[in-house]
Amino acid sequence: MSFPAQQLQAVVDENKFSSLKRLLRITAWVTRFTGNCRLACQQRKSGPLTAEELQETERYWVRVTQQQAFQKELTDLQNHRVVDRSSSLISLMPQLTEGGVLRVTGRLLNADIADDAKYPVILPQKSHFTQLVIRDTHERLKHTGVNHVLAETRQRYWIVNGRQAVKSCDFRCNFCRKRRVSPGEQVMAPLPECRLGNEARAFACCVVDFAGPYLTTVAPRTTAKRYLCLFTCMATRAAHLEMVADLTADAFLLAFSRMVARRGNPKVLISDNGKNFVGARQELRRLDEANPEIACKLGHEGVECKLNPPSALHHGGVFESIIKSAKLKSETSCCSSSPTHPAESGFLSS
Ligand SMILES: [Zn+2]
Repeated sequence: MSFPAQQLQAVVDENKFSSLKRLLRITAWVTRFTGNCRLACQQRKSGPLTAEELQETERYWVRVTQQQAFQKELTDLQNHRVVDRSSSLISLMPQLTEGGVLRVTGRLLNADIADDAKYPVILPQKSHFTQLVIRDTHERLKHTGVNHVLAETRQRYWIVNGRQAVKSCDFRCNFCRKRRVSPGEQVMAPLPECRLGNEARAFACCVVDFAGPYLTTVAPRTTAKRYLCLFTCMATRAAHLEMVADLTADAFLLAFSRMVARRGNPKVLISDNGKNFVGARQELRRLDEANPEIACKLGHEGVECKLNPPSALHHGGVFESIIKSAKLKSETSCCSSSPTHPAESGFLSS
C-alpha cells in the first residue's frame, strides 16, 4: 500500500507560538475557515472546535514536522524502499502508517496498551513543534524532572535524542531556573577573639545565662522554685551549672563566686541585659573600686563584664544552645513525673 506524497505547507508560522494548545487551536480555526470558504452556506461548520478537529490539526503538524526533518526517509518508504543505513531513524525501524505519519516499529504488538504507546510517532529533536510538545508535557506535569517528562512524552511520541531535547527544555524553563538557583549566602564576620581559644585555660572568657524556674524539693513535702545559672566557656563550650534561689543580683554573685572557686577567675564575663546581671555588674565594679583586696580575695578582681546589645538576641547563640542541651539532659535523666533541676541531674560540667 502506498500513500500520496503530498507536500504540506504550514498554514501559520509555528515559530511565533510558545504554547502547543494555542498553536493547535489557531491552526484549527484557520483550517475551518479555509474549509468553510469552499463549502456552501448550509454545509459550513460553526460553533466551538471539536476534539476531532484538534486531533486532525495535531496530526497535520506532525506530518509537517516530519516532512521538514525526514523528507528522505518518507520518500523511501512511500516508494517501498528500505530506509537508508545512514539515516538517524534506522534503529527505530520506521513505518509509514495511514495518514502518512512516521511511527516506530517496536516489539509491543501484543501489549495491552494504546496504539500510540505501541507505535509512537517519530519527531525530530530540533523542531519547534517538538519543543512545544515537550514544554506542554513539562508544564502539564508541574515542572517535574527529565525522566518523568520523557516517559510521559513517549506515551505518544518518540523524539530522536529525546533525553537531550527534554533536558534542553528543562534548562530553558524560567520557572525551573528560578527554583534551581541557590540562595545567596551572607558573608560571616570574623570570629571574636574570645571564641578562638587564645587563652590557655577554659572559662577564661565565659558567658552566663539563667533558665527555669524548676520546682525543687527543698525539704520533705516542700518544694520551691530554683533557677539554673549556666556558665559556658566561649572557646571550649565547657559548661558549669549552678543552682540559685532567685533572680537577684546577690544570688547571682554567690553563684559566680562558686563558679570562680571551681573554675578560676574569668577575664571576660558576657551576659544578656537581665536585671540581675546589670546589678551584679555594678556591684562588681563598685567592689573593685572600693575594696580591691576583698575583690582579689573573692577572685572577682579585673573581671570585664560585657552585656550583649539589647535587641541582638543572636549574640547569645553560644549559651542558648548549651541551655537547650542542659534542659534536654534534665528531662531525659529524670522520670517524666517530676522535673529535676539540671544541676542535680549529673550534668554539672563537661
Ligand atoms: Zn519548568
